[in-house]
Amino acid sequence: MLRISQGLETPQLITSGNAARKSCQIDRALLEPEHPQHQHWMGQALQLAAAAGATGDVPVGAIVVDGQGRAIAQAENRKQRDGDPTGHAEILALQRAGRSRQNWHLNDCVLYVTLEPCPMCAGAIINARLGLLVFGAIDPKAGAICSVLNLPASAASNHRLPVIGGVLGQDCQQQLQVWFQQKRPDRFYTQPSENI
Ligand SMILES: [Zn+2]
Repeated sequence: MLRISQGLETPQLITSGNAARKSCQIDRALLEPEHPQHQHWMGQALQLAAAAGATGDVPVGAIVVDGQGRAIAQAENRKQRDGDPTGHAEILALQRAGRSRQNWHLNDCVLYVTLEPCPMCAGAIINARLGLLVFGAIDPKAGAICSVLNLPASAASNHRLPVIGGVLGQDCQQQLQVWFQQKRPDRFYTQPSENI
């Protein structure tokens, strides 16, 4: 199991998902960490995250892009606003993607999210049979993809998930740092996920 305790300096293919390639329908070119599509959509996710941060929620944004390169769902963290413990950006984006297609099976889709998913979101991602996960900043406190846990590679997972981490990672990390400095200085970026 790969454990990453430090931030990612550059985009990296964290999990190749070799065992899943037969069933995954994503373009294999997307497994290239420097693929320009990744930076584009992560930039959009950063804007969603900023909107969340402006309203008092921890800034996290997520976008689901289908096999034709179209964004079919997007969401921002709404936990505080909605009083919803499941209101994370990834959960909301996956729900909207499934509803829009009337199909929970998202194996041709890429999920972009600005922060490494937590255990709840990682579970939802596995259940969606997602084609590829691309995230920005590492969450050293509660990340469930590669830093604290690796749920996709665990015995509880029946889906081998390709993962790229660190796309616009420094921008994503800085956004969280600035938000915590301004909104919750008492908790200044010890671990961003504590209150997501
Ligand atoms: Zn989450």
